Amino acid sequence: MLQKIAIVGGTHGNEMSGIQLVSNWLRHGVPSSFNDLDITCLFANTKAMEANVRFLEEDLNRQFTPQKLAATPSCLEARLAHELNEKLGPKGNSDFDLVIDIHNTTSSMGATLIILEADEFHVQLARYVKHHMPEANVLVEDEKPTQEHPYLCTLGNRGLMIEVGAQPQGLLRADVYALTEKMAVVILAFIQQYNQNNVPALPPCDAFRFIENILYPRDEAGHRLAMIHPNLQDQDFSELKSGMPVFTHFDGSQENWQGDTVFPHFINEAAYHKLHVAFATATKTQL
Ligand SMILES: [Zn+2]
Repeated sequence: MLQKIAIVGGTHGNEMSGIQLVSNWLRHGVPSSFNDLDITCLFANTKAMEANVRFLEEDLNRQFTPQKLAATPSCLEARLAHELNEKLGPKGNSDFDLVIDIHNTTSSMGATLIILEADEFHVQLARYVKHHMPEANVLVEDEKPTQEHPYLCTLGNRGLMIEVGAQPQGLLRADVYALTEKMAVVILAFIQQYNQNNVPALPPCDAFRFIENILYPRDEAGHRLAMIHPNLQDQDFSELKSGMPVFTHFDGSQENWQGDTVFPHFINEAAYHKLHVAFATATKTQL
């Protein structure tokens, strides 16, 4: 039974689809068909939202490790994380049964449900979302225990993220908004069915499991040597096989993928640009 649910926008202050959805649901209420659920809508980083930036000092969505929550906060977002831990946590022992954190990406990831574990609840959820939203992707980031993730959504007893793209930072696209709203509504409908012990038995669905981040090639002085190859750009969750191009070097040469077949995502995500992350890889799996 999931009693208390939080829906969060503005964890990143320039991701407008989640901010707008939470804003609309704060003003008009969540759709009335969900009135039986105890839903709290809130903004996470209003100062970053006012400035229309991802964060002011540090990425808020990297502040929620047990270590950081136990340490004395050293920046605005760390202080905010401690406040949110009181409001939505405490992490590991929360009043909230589920925290849904809404993001968008500049990568062409479509509507992506990010889950942090593949237990029975999340498998049922993934199948339900894929059933009602075949265009959605499911991304599993269970490379470490849920509690060790630095994400805001880990404050709840369960946490997940909605990640939709492509949408530039700081503005709202109607197509991305519609996918965001649809996925949020499908997740809430699932929770109703789950609470009524009424989740239909659904067949296994495709999903992607995170492997690692791939960095841009750089020289010894740290200067970047390449860009995402045009053939890879916007191909999120498509198959990348050995020999297919990944980088266009500024000297005109082409760098190809080597190794196992993977499924890239977060390709050319703007927020990861200065971290030198070119894309993330995943394997294809079934849940
Ligand atoms: Zn985000």
